[in-house]
Amino acid sequence: MILTVGAVLFACAVVLYVLQPLLTGTEAPLGRGWDEITEAEARTAAALKALRDVEYDYHTGKLDDRDYESLRGELTAEAVAALRDEEADAGDRPALQTATPDTESIEREILRVREQFRAGTACGECGHRNPDGSRFCAACGRRVRAA
Ligand SMILES: [Zn+2]
Repeated sequence: MILTVGAVLFACAVVLYVLQPLLTGTEAPLGRGWDEITEAEARTAAALKALRDVEYDYHTGKLDDRDYESLRGELTAEAVAALRDEEADAGDRPALQTATPDTESIEREILRVREQFRAGTACGECGHRNPDGSRFCAACGRRVRAA
């Protein structure tokens, strides 16, 4: 009896786990659940999020040129280091990033984010890419257009 209950609970847990992305509707940036990401992947995500924040703050005039350059340099180095660790962690697993983890790919990511800010569609809070003409983030509700 106890075994049966255990088996049922386990089956429920497995089903919930598998359905989780569908139920929560969250976007998995790396193609897997957040509970499965490695430390390096978490660091990469954090560094890229921080880079987005820096871009946003610069875009909205909260950072001056000097702070912006120095923060961006630091965070880019951190993102590159984290991406390299991530590749090392990946081992036999298929590569998650198609781009080579180098400064160039981070620069491309920055340019992409900057374009989104310019278009007023990327959310400075959560990074969600909103449709053109959006005034508020569809994911977190924050205003996406700089005043
Ligand atoms: Zn948002």
